[in-house]
Amino acid sequence: RKRNPGQEEFVQAVAEVSQDIFGWIEDKTEYHEASILRRIAEPDRIVSFRVCWEDDDNNIRVERGWRVQNNNAIGPYKGGLRFHPSVTESVLKFLAFEQTFKNSLTGLPLGGGKGGSNFDPKGKSDSEVMRFCQSFMTELYRHIGPEVDVPAGDIGVGSREIGYLFGQYKRITGRWEGVLTGKATEYGGSKMRPEATGYGAVYFLENMLKHADKELDGKAAIISGSGNVALHAAEKLIDKGVKVLSLSDSDGCVHDPDGIDADKLDWIKDLKMNRRGRISEYADEYSGVEFTEDGEPWDIEADLAMPCATQNEIGEDEAQKLVDNGVLAIAEGANMPTTNDGVEIFRDAKVLYGPGKAANAGGVAVSGLEMSQNADGISWDTEKLGSMLQDIMDDIHEKCVEHGEGDDGKYVDYVKGANIAGFKKVADAMLAFGVM
Ligand code: NDP
Repeated sequence: RKRNPGQEEFVQAVAEVSQDIFGWIEDKTEYHEASILRRIAEPDRIVSFRVCWEDDDNNIRVERGWRVQNNNAIGPYKGGLRFHPSVTESVLKFLAFEQTFKNSLTGLPLGGGKGGSNFDPKGKSDSEVMRFCQSFMTELYRHIGPEVDVPAGDIGVGSREIGYLFGQYKRITGRWEGVLTGKATEYGGSKMRPEATGYGAVYFLENMLKHADKELDGKAAIISGSGNVALHAAEKLIDKGVKVLSLSDSDGCVHDPDGIDADKLDWIKDLKMNRRGRISEYADEYSGVEFTEDGEPWDIEADLAMPCATQNEIGEDEAQKLVDNGVLAIAEGANMPTTNDGVEIFRDAKVLYGPGKAANAGGVAVSGLEMSQNADGISWDTEKLGSMLQDIMDDIHEKCVEHGEGDDGKYVDYVKGANIAGFKKVADAMLAFGVM
């Protein structure tokens, strides 16, 4: 905290990981003699830059952009770009730190990074978003490359933004290369990438339940968010026989006691992805649906919870409410949506709890597969990618069990499992390189 004044999110993420790693490395002198954890918790570098663009009324606007390159011990830096007014250096440092462990868990050669801007794409015209993205890339391009750093999308950066960013990179460098992932399939994007994070989080949830002799079919779930991750998680849950009761956005939460079925979800997808509408419109369209302004879904009774919006959505009170309502399992589609106090409540109550760095790793895993396809100039089909995604999520679950299962062989501490398994691979690579 002294070393990173005012960077609360970053301090929170490092504290959560350190707790598990300190216990594990206690008798492993090679790691603490080499100060590995301290080195992983200090980004390799942070680039901060001005992004200047002109709005539709010819006003000159100035935003701030960043790229945090946290660690490239096991592969090129990899992690999304976030465009949202809440973006700060602290938020991006926490995301880049978490990404390092997540990418390690995928088993693919990917280092950890993250970037973005406090620019808010909401309410901006397509031309404004295009001009912003072009200006952002005019600085970013010199810091990235297919073997250096490969950004992707995140909150506020979807296929439209990736298109503008990729176009500008290509224009400046004159090179078509796999420097961004999450591209549209017409120009080198991977099939299954849009679905991968949400579907992967459901596969992880299913694995946690199976390991505890339970199943998804017939359960009820609450989901927050209504972006890429939330909608694909909802789609896969519905497909697996789960009744989805809620979705949300930054205006509030919708509760549909009858359940959001596949047809209703198609309507919501069109609303959010094509018409860029607000989730409250769902309550106007369908009867029996309740919209709560500024509301969140955590007090709705359900078996399963999937936070898929943003960091720190579930604090101590919300976590306690979920436990009191008898939640069986939580799988995080978002990054660090639960505060450390909330995590302790889940751990103490021994509910199944899959942290984001494990549960939402499916997205970056398919991004890694997009890099392989670009490097080889090939395109795999949906079936092959779907089964690779399932295998990767199964494998991440196994690694978490290996390092997180208690002595009683019953309760799996997935946070501990993910932290140790993610750390070990990066730490071993850093040891091999010597001190640097
Ligand atoms: P989107 O931009 O597609 O959707 C984000 C959703 O969360 C929107 O419904 C948004 O509402 C809501 N939201 C964002 N910020 C806030 C806030 N401060 N308060 C309340 N609601 C908010 O992003 P994604 O679905 O891609 O990302 C969601 C989460 O998943 C993030 O934590 C991201 O880091 C994580 N993630 C995403 C991956 C991916 O592949 N996309 C991969 C791994 C993790 P509104 O539209 O009103 O802002």
